[in-house]
Amino acid sequence: MQLTPMLSQYMEIKKGYPDCILFYQMGDFYEMFFDDALAAAPLLEVQLTSRDRNSADRIPMCGIPIHALATYLPRLLAHGKRVAVCQQVEDPSVSAGTKALVKREVTRVYTPSLVADPELVSPDTRNILFSFTFDGESAAICLVDLLASEAKSGRVTSKEAWLDLFHEWQPKEILLPSPALEHAFFQEAVRLFPSLTITVREKTFVGKNALDQVWAAAKSYLTETQGPAGAALTTPLPLTGIEALRMDSVTINALSVVRTPWKEETCLSDVLDGTLTSMGRRRLKEWLLHPLGSLKGIKERHDSVDNFLKQEPLAEYVREHLTSLRDLERLATKAHLGLALPKDLVAIREVLAKIPGLQVMLDLGKAKRLRDIGTALDPLTELQELLTRALLDEPSNAIREGGILQEGYHPEIAELRLLCQDAKSWIAKMEAREKERTGIASLKIKYSRVFGYTIEVTRSYLERVPKEYKRKQTIANGERYVTDELKAFEEKAVSAESKLCALEESLFLELRKKVAGQASRLLLNARLLSELDVLQGFAKKAKERGYRRPQMTPKNRENEDSFLIEEGRHPVLETVLPPGEFVPNSVEMSEDLGRTWLITGPNMAGKSTIMRQTALIAIMAQSGSFVSASRACLPLFDAIFTRIGSSDDLTRGRSTFMVEMAEVSRIIEKSSEKSLILIDEIGRGTSTYDGLALAWSILEYLHTEVKAKTLFATHFHELTSLQNKLPGLVNKTVLVERTAEKIVFLHRLGNGACSRSYGVDVARLAGLPSKVLARAGQVLRHLESQSERVGRARSKALEISDKQLLFFDDPKLLETLAPLDS
Ligand code: ATP
Repeated sequence: MQLTPMLSQYMEIKKGYPDCILFYQMGDFYEMFFDDALAAAPLLEVQLTSRDRNSADRIPMCGIPIHALATYLPRLLAHGKRVAVCQQVEDPSVSAGTKALVKREVTRVYTPSLVADPELVSPDTRNILFSFTFDGESAAICLVDLLASEAKSGRVTSKEAWLDLFHEWQPKEILLPSPALEHAFFQEAVRLFPSLTITVREKTFVGKNALDQVWAAAKSYLTETQGPAGAALTTPLPLTGIEALRMDSVTINALSVVRTPWKEETCLSDVLDGTLTSMGRRRLKEWLLHPLGSLKGIKERHDSVDNFLKQEPLAEYVREHLTSLRDLERLATKAHLGLALPKDLVAIREVLAKIPGLQVMLDLGKAKRLRDIGTALDPLTELQELLTRALLDEPSNAIREGGILQEGYHPEIAELRLLCQDAKSWIAKMEAREKERTGIASLKIKYSRVFGYTIEVTRSYLERVPKEYKRKQTIANGERYVTDELKAFEEKAVSAESKLCALEESLFLELRKKVAGQASRLLLNARLLSELDVLQGFAKKAKERGYRRPQMTPKNRENEDSFLIEEGRHPVLETVLPPGEFVPNSVEMSEDLGRTWLITGPNMAGKSTIMRQTALIAIMAQSGSFVSASRACLPLFDAIFTRIGSSDDLTRGRSTFMVEMAEVSRIIEKSSEKSLILIDEIGRGTSTYDGLALAWSILEYLHTEVKAKTLFATHFHELTSLQNKLPGLVNKTVLVERTAEKIVFLHRLGNGACSRSYGVDVARLAGLPSKVLARAGQVLRHLESQSERVGRARSKALEISDKQLLFFDDPKLLETLAPLDS
């Protein structure tokens, strides 16, 4: 095919970006050609057309207006596509004279995870890239959040921990060397997260060890897509804080700590969100996913919340200053990557302007952390002054067209602006003069890009046109002329205008560089302001909802393990139920009062609610929030584990029972004396005896070996007899009232065991037909009388189980039970 010069240029550029859709600027449009157009048109929902429509070699093409980039680009990224934006890098009028093709270059590559433009990303989401490689059964991983200018790296040594990272961070894209494609970890991740964009880069994984390699690869990919500024990202922080409360993805999901794309229900982060900025909102999510593991940090946060509650004017001042505060984190990143526009710099200037006032106020605070934030905030006075001096209050964002800078910023600006302004009045004067002189009432001086300034005369006046007017253009109802005087003026005026634009552009670029040079200081401010925002939000919610400050028990004091929640409420459920309907419950555990609670009670009585609220209160406390209880005294947990509900995992080919057992085995492996464990129903997906036996031995093991604080809900009433055998185990039940015709759930926890299950009653509430219920009642009575014998045998078995762990090894007992199992 014979290619036009333009298409040859296109092909040449496209060669460098084979895995991207190339947006090729042609004037006011980005055009796509060939396969790119075929792939993109349906995703963008734009018309697919063709170039050289009449020739045999039709070239498919489609396009989008340049100004609509923010509308269209995210659609392609959401489909996992990469986009290379190729712009005209010189003024087309320059090359027009020489007839040469206008110069074009790829100025930026966008990938699903690397979108440097905050306008293209929702303020609440983080676009994360994972770069990783494997070293046997261990994975080295580096994650990059480009918009936060943040990187973290670390190693994980099990597939579960590795998949947890995917659940937690929900990366949009993964970067890996090709041998990693074969690894079982990778294949599992792709199966679970099919919409991941996979990017293979062979040679960039270089370095002494796997951690160096993943970081080198991430940096090289950043340079490839963002240009040199991309590589200036700070060295990665450790992936997991050393002292953080650990929660795996199962727990985070089961407790609905934060919103996930696949879960729409209200979650903890929603009810605790009193933030006023998008930076704060993102920080809150991070805090809830990684509650602190150190007393000092927790205390600092609680002190700050307390301080905001007690010093109302301070809270008010901070809130006033945070309201409508722009996203400094993303603005700083934008500046750092050389993308900031004039309005962005004004926004940075506005944020900086608020800092000195905040510092003064925070210094009056009682809480050390608030004062520390005040001290650490950096007003960047010089930069703030420079930006004030330089930028207009509402500058234009079109950096080539002027209208950006203050006149006083550079002596030539005022001069050139005057010339441009003069031009207008000069033209007006000339127009009036010529009208008068020639007697042409309709005479007008017009400007067009192509013909410059011309004198327009309508047809009826043509005979009055003086001879020194030179005809330039015929229009529908008359003619356009120029004169030598007008030509000379035009040269002066137009050159002033273009000089002014060029001057403003170059001064702005210099200014932007200066801001970029301060990016790390700006980012530090962003972190501090977002922290302040979460803390004031915690205070706001504490006041609104009557949360109380928990007392955190230090590790090395007496009673270090005591755990008390008085009148605790489920923080989410209490906001969903009508006011006053939630029934609070207290939970108290200690060496004396027991560390394992075995909770029985009918379905729907509120067992799960009590367990979840206990864990959520611990998460709130360790994140720095006050808690939904009238009083709380909590130990520092090192981890929270849950096994709740039937999270069937059929997509992974595992049955409910299999999932249950895998989760329990993980809990046993990872938990310690300092953990909090919630187990809601295990052993139901298999035969009754298998289930009971497993629930039994797991409960014993958690009590005796792990010694973690454990809430264990069950329908196996047989387990309640363990209270006599295990010193730290206490039976609890959720109370119900039974009248002649129905049961009433009190949602209150009491001591002791629940004697029956009320399954048929709950089914009645659920609206099962009365015929089915009556028959179920009959069958139940029959079964109960039959099972009395079995019950007696089971009780006997329990009695002889002094050596609990050997219980099921007892051949005599097994012999006794064997006939019952058939
Ligand atoms: P199952 O055994 O069937 O899983 P459960 O005993 O775990 O049931 P929950 O799921 O905790 O019961 O609670 C069932 C419903 O009862 C909740 O959705 C809620 O509407 C209500 N409920 C639970 N606890 C309370 C409470 N403390 N105050 C008010 N309503 C409650």
